[in-house]
Amino acid sequence: VKQRVRPVLHSIDPYQAGLTDDEIVQRFGGKAVLKLNANENPLGPSPKALQAIADELGQLHHYPDGSSSYLRDAIAQYHGCEKDAVLVGNGSDEIIRLLSETFLSPDDEVIVTFPSFSQYRAGALLMGAKVVTVPLEAESFRFDPERLLEAVNPRTKLLYVCSPNNPSGTVLEKNQLEELVKRLPPQVIVIWDAAYDEYSMSPHRAVWSQDLLETGRWIVLHTFSKLYGLAGLRVGYALGSPDIWQYAHRIREPFNVNRLAQRAAAAALYDEEHRQKSLQLVRKGKQQYERLGQAGYTLVPSDANFILVRVGNGRQVAEKLMSEGVLVRFGFGLSEYIRISIGLANENEQCVEALLRLA
Ligand code: PMP
Repeated sequence: VKQRVRPVLHSIDPYQAGLTDDEIVQRFGGKAVLKLNANENPLGPSPKALQAIADELGQLHHYPDGSSSYLRDAIAQYHGCEKDAVLVGNGSDEIIRLLSETFLSPDDEVIVTFPSFSQYRAGALLMGAKVVTVPLEAESFRFDPERLLEAVNPRTKLLYVCSPNNPSGTVLEKNQLEELVKRLPPQVIVIWDAAYDEYSMSPHRAVWSQDLLETGRWIVLHTFSKLYGLAGLRVGYALGSPDIWQYAHRIREPFNVNRLAQRAAAAALYDEEHRQKSLQLVRKGKQQYERLGQAGYTLVPSDANFILVRVGNGRQVAEKLMSEGVLVRFGFGLSEYIRISIGLANENEQCVEALLRLA
């Protein structure tokens, strides 16, 4: 088989999401674990989303609407844009793959920052494109537009900006966005992964706009997996020019978002109360981790629903936390750090206490 598969597959690592469900059962048996490793919403989905799922169950023998019309309407209304500017997918993971397939040919170049979300790289490699990695500033993990611009050459097709960035929680700043808009050459399409956008509150953060999207050179990615607590359903969306989506529609799977996901995601968008409750929980929860700063840990200021903590040996600390039933993320190329998702107040407390014992 090794000789028969596409050679490029030898250079792509499988996605590492931490322990699988089987491994969790093996390791912890029936004991409850604290899942602070995947940036999920600990409150779960909106009750309105759950009701929408219940209402839709009787329709499961029918295919979903292949154009996801109802959901795209809801998203367009929420963002105040036209419906044809919205593309939905089976998680934003699917959209990242679809954008790679839409834009990339072998020998094109894709710029990604380090550290950042792994799937940009995987999507580019799959198409035979070259991945150019630009580091964020050491320790502060701030974006550096000069270095991004220096990495651009005539073969550059895509530039991924994840803001707030996973795993650092840092944001692209207003003036940095202005630099990129002004100086990026027109052949570069920027994909702004805004998976954690709603959590972001820094006054200096860059904010994307409809004007930016209408240039046809900027695309914004969103997901229902984080704030909306629907990670298990798999729904994400992208906002961009309808001119781009007409090509993506040619190659996407015909029924890429299932019936339950379409209805639940639309209902979740309309539940402002649950959204506010979820945001509030993260804002308060983050404060609980400030104690770690006094105990010798370094916290990277985060605009997302997780924090990156410098702990010394990330793997060792994550393993020790795991032995107490607390799952956090480690690896992602930063060996001294762990990433902790903000949980419920008592969960944060348990995680902080465990880390203070290890300090
Ligand atoms: N982008 C970023 C920055 C993420 O952190 C994640 C989830 N880990 C995704 C995209 C993928 O999200 P989805 O569940 O919508 O596929």
